[in-house]
Amino acid sequence: MQHIKNYINGQLIEPVSKTYLDNYDPSTGKVYSYIPDSDEKDVELAYAAAKNAFKEWSILPKDKRSQYLLKIAALIEKNLDKLALAESIDNGKPLKLAKTVDIPRAAANFHFYGTGILHYASHAHSMEDSAINYTLRQPVGVAGCISPWNLPLYLFSWKIAPALAAGCTVVAKPSEVTPMTAYLLSELCVEAGLPAGVLNIVHGLGGKVGNAIVSHKDIPLISFTGGTTTGKHIASIAAPMFKKLSLELGGKNPNLIFADCDYEKMLSTTMLSSFANQGQICLCGSRIFVERKIYDKFKTDFIAKTKALVVGDPRDEKTKVGAVVSKPHQEKILSYIELAKQEGGKILCGGNPIKMSGEFSEGYYIEPTIIEGLNYDCRTNQEEIFGPVVTITPFDTEEEALKMANSTIYGLASVVWTQDLTKAHRIANNIHAGIVWINCWLLRDLRTPFGGVKASGVGREGGFEALDFFTEPKNVCVKL
Ligand code: NAD
Repeated sequence: MQHIKNYINGQLIEPVSKTYLDNYDPSTGKVYSYIPDSDEKDVELAYAAAKNAFKEWSILPKDKRSQYLLKIAALIEKNLDKLALAESIDNGKPLKLAKTVDIPRAAANFHFYGTGILHYASHAHSMEDSAINYTLRQPVGVAGCISPWNLPLYLFSWKIAPALAAGCTVVAKPSEVTPMTAYLLSELCVEAGLPAGVLNIVHGLGGKVGNAIVSHKDIPLISFTGGTTTGKHIASIAAPMFKKLSLELGGKNPNLIFADCDYEKMLSTTMLSSFANQGQICLCGSRIFVERKIYDKFKTDFIAKTKALVVGDPRDEKTKVGAVVSKPHQEKILSYIELAKQEGGKILCGGNPIKMSGEFSEGYYIEPTIIEGLNYDCRTNQEEIFGPVVTITPFDTEEEALKMANSTIYGLASVVWTQDLTKAHRIANNIHAGIVWINCWLLRDLRTPFGGVKASGVGREGGFEALDFFTEPKNVCVKL
C-alpha cells in the first residue's frame, strides 16, 4: 500500500519517526494508504530548509517567482484527472465535483497569485516639499500554513500560492484526514523545479505537527483554516508570541428566501448550497429562512428534490452526494440529528445513515436531511454541523429574518433571494457575514477579500489582502 511522504528541502522523505497513520477511503471505510505521523523533529527540518531557502526566494525577481507558480498551475491542470480522483478517494466527494470545482480552483489559485504578484504595488505619499514617505512591502519570513479536509487542495493552495508569490517560504500542513492531493502537489513541485526548501509539506496530526508549527518561535506568521475551537486554541498560542495570524473558521450560514425571488433559480441553487460536497463546504447554507407566503410550496418542492438526490459511489457520474469524510464525522452529524429531535425538530426527509451494498457497505453515508419546527436559537440552529443537514424556518418580516440570521456566534457567509433591489442591498448592509450572495451562491472573483466576522475568523484571505498579509509594510520617510 502507498506510503505518503513528507516534502522537505526539495526531497520526498519519510518522517523522522518512520511511523505512519492509516488513511481511509470514506466511500468504502477501508484503509488505502499511509500518512507520515510526523512530529516536531520533521517540522524543525522543514523550518531549517525554509529558512535557508528564504534568503534567495525572498529576493528572487517577481517574474521568476511568478514563472514557478504558473508552472505549478499548468501541472495541476495537466494532472486534473489524477488529482480529482485522489481527492475523491481521500475525501468521499463526488469525482465530478473534484474535477469541475476543487482541482480547477486549485490551479486558479496558483495562476491568480502567479500573475497577481506582478501587479502588486506599494504606495508613496508626498508631504509637499518637505518629505516623501514610501512603503516597502517585504515578505514576512517562513510562513506556517495549516488547512482542513473539506476542500483539500483548493484550501491548501489558497494559502501557499499567495505566500510563495509574496516571497515567503512555507512550512505547510494539510489535514491528516485528506493528505493525498497535498502529496501529489509536492510531486508536481519537484517536477516544476521549485527550488529546495521554498515549500515544505509536513504530514501528520494537528496536535503534533500543527502545534509544532504554531508554537515554533521562529515562524512569525500563521495562516489557518479549520474549526473555531482549533482556531481559538491556535490564537491562544500565537497571539502572545505576536505572530501575524489569519484564522478562517467555522460557520452557520443563513439563507434568506423572500416570496418575490426567482423561484426556480432559488430552488436549484438552494439544493447546491445545502448539499454540495455533502454539506461540507464552510460556505454551505445550513439555516434556511423562508418567507411564510411561499413556505409550504418551498417545503414540498425542496423535500421532493432532496429525496431525488442520488447518494452513493463518489466515482459514479450520477452521484450527487458522496460519503462524509470520516467515521467520527459521520457520528457527529448523526448525533446532531438526534439532538434536533430532542429539541422538537421534525425530520422532513433523511435523518439516517445509509448502508450501501458491496464494496461501499462500510462507507460513511448519510441521507440528505431537512428538519423543521426548531426555534432559531436552539443548539441545532446555533452550532456548526458541517454535513448534509439543513433546517427550514418560516418568517413573516424582514426584521424577523435578520434577527434569526444574525443570532449565531458565526458570521461567515449568507445568501439572499429576492428580486427587490433595495431590499437586497439593505439586507446585505445589515447581515453579520463576511460574504453576502444575492441571488447566487459560491460565485467569487478571486480579487475580493475572503473571510468571516465574529467566531468565523479574523483577517482576510484572497486578492491583494493575502499579499498584504504575507508581507510586512515598512514606512520610509525621506526628508527633502
Ligand atoms: P480542524 O480545526 O479540526 O482541523 C484543521 C487543521 O488544523 C487540520 O490540518 C488539523 O490537523 C489542524 N489542527 C488540529 N488541531 C491543531 C492544533 N492543536 N494546532 C495546530 N493545528 C491543528 O478542522 P477540520 O475538521 O479539518 O475542518 C472543518 C472545519 O473547517 C469546519 O469548522 C469548517 O467550517 C472550517 N472551514 C472554514 C473555512 C473558512 O474559509 N472559513 C473553510 C473550510 C473549512
